[in-house]
Amino acid sequence: MSAHGRHYVVELADGTALHCYPRGKRSDLACGDRVRVRRAAADQAVIESVAQRTSALYRSDDFRQKVIAANVTQVLVVVAGRPPFSEELLVRCLVAAEQQRLKALVVLNKIDLEVESAAASKRLRLYEQLGYPLLKLSAREDVSPLCPWLSGQTSVLVGQSGMGKSRIVKALVPDAEVRIGEISEALGAGRHTTTSARLYHLDRDSHLIDSPGMQTFGLQHLSLSELADAFPELRPLRGACRFKDCRHVIEPGCAIRAAVEEGKIEPRRWQAYRAIAEELAEKRPDWA
Ligand code: GDP
Ligand code: ZN
Repeated sequence: MSAHGRHYVVELADGTALHCYPRGKRSDLACGDRVRVRRAAADQAVIESVAQRTSALYRSDDFRQKVIAANVTQVLVVVAGRPPFSEELLVRCLVAAEQQRLKALVVLNKIDLEVESAAASKRLRLYEQLGYPLLKLSAREDVSPLCPWLSGQTSVLVGQSGMGKSRIVKALVPDAEVRIGEISEALGAGRHTTTSARLYHLDRDSHLIDSPGMQTFGLQHLSLSELADAFPELRPLRGACRFKDCRHVIEPGCAIRAAVEEGKIEPRRWQAYRAIAEELAEKRPDWA
């Protein structure tokens, strides 16, 4: 249900929550993982094993890669017109989803702010054209447009702080705060429990993972070819460049650059690819 350093809250099949520690040194478990536990005390247990994941949404910082959520079926990226969302962060969330071949949706929140939302919708048109469904709503007024998309799925909500993610969760899970309170109590510590992802059940078959708001989204865990593959419109050009190890930046005979020049690929997308590719190259001097 949630991870707090090496402490985890695990929900048993009967719905009760236990405070758990992993056996040994492992600390790579994440919200959404399915585990087998052995009870050590009335409200404590040891995690004995972890089931193989069907997916893991990764994010890196300078030191290591982290799993934001495991076993999700789709990623919902929450954006808004006020404050204006960061397109770079949106692209990075979509890349992380694509890398795991997860369905990704864009949620434009705060549409009660009409002027700002019109501008945001315009910026989002490109992503709609690329095939990412765009759901528009106001968490202040009504989150029901989300419900059909969440049904039968395990969804993770990601997004820049301030876009209204908490408000969306509160509207979808009215007793979220009560549940967080219970978890904090189980952990015996309230404070840092607000900074981790956590899972809620919407109904028997629909689950929602809320992740902490972010300002940056590192992708250092990707290779360059994974990065190019995470841009759906670049996939058909795989293998079409003159050099097999083309980075699609300055190489002669690059099919992707040619497609940009011919207007077949949106220049904004190639620039976004390049910015991330250059960042990856910086971390790995052997590519430079
Ligand atoms: P988070 O950082 O993404 O979790 O964002 P919050 O849920 O804390 O919301 C950030 C701010 O946006 C708060 O002041 C909310 O009241 C406001 N907000 C959230 N949803 C809406 C909405 O649908 N409309 C408007 N106008 N404001 C909203
Ligand atoms: Zn190329």
